[in-house]
Parts: sequence; C-alpha cells; structure tokens
Amino acid sequence: MASSTDSFFPAPDAGHLRARLAQAGLRATRQRLVILESLLTLPGHPTAEQVHRQVISQEPSISLGTVYKALDSFVAAGLTRRVAAAEGTSRRYDADCTEHHHLFCTETQEIIDYCDPQLDALIREFFAAKGLHDFQPHSFSLHITGSKVVK
Ligand SMILES: [Zn+2]
Repeated sequence: MASSTDSFFPAPDAGHLRARLAQAGLRATRQRLVILESLLTLPGHPTAEQVHRQVISQEPSISLGTVYKALDSFVAAGLTRRVAAAEGTSRRYDADCTEHHHLFCTETQEIIDYCDPQLDALIREFFAAKGLHDFQPHSFSLHITGSKVVK
C-alpha cells in the first residue's frame, strides 16, 4: 500500500484502527476512525486544531467540536493521552500511551518524546526508597521545559 513519504508514520489500515477502538471499548464510527487515523499519522503531539485540519481533507463535514469530543473520548478510554503543554497553549494529544517523558521546547512549542530506561529505574528506586505520603504512584512522566540547542 502506497503512503506519502513526507508523513512521519505509515498510515495504519482500517482493521488496525477498528481493533484499537474496540480494545478501548469505543464504537468504530466513521468519524472516530478518521480522527484516530489523523492523530496516529500526524508527527509529534498534535493539537485538536491540527488533527481537525488533517481530518477535513478526508471528511470536510467534521467540525472542530466533533474532533474535540472524539479526542476526549479517546483520552477517557485510555487510547490517547493529553500532554501538558505550556500555559495558555492549546491542548496537545499523544497517541503513544506507553510510558515516556517529554521535552518541551519553549521557542518552537515542539514536544519531543524522551525515553530512557535508566532514568525510569532511577525514579522508581527513588520513590520505592522514599515513598510518597498518602499517595501510590502508578506511572511517571517527566515534562522537561527548555529550548533546542542550535549547533
Ligand atoms: Zn509523547
């Protein structure tokens, strides 16, 4: 199956999209399929507006409100995560629900995934040793703010 080479992720097939929605306990409506596909194919951590722009190239009748509603249902179902971004900026969404950290560039607003098993082990050991008062951690996600170093 041909897919455009400028797209960062290969377009997932419809069966895969249906399976992901079913796993999350969501009905695979046509709108949800198109919205999930756009979320998965857009690189990085898109805003609802960016997802909407992508969606209307296929389904011009879908409103931004519908995109927001669908994304919120994905978040509630554990299919998507909402990513903390800078104050006052649009909500960002992450289709990758595996544990990872984020580097947030304050200049470009770019959110870069950051994975390091050694860091994860350090954090786990720290909280295992120190504990948290009246709080049981389930997962960890660091949000590191900074700016890209231009070489
Ligand atoms: Zn991410």
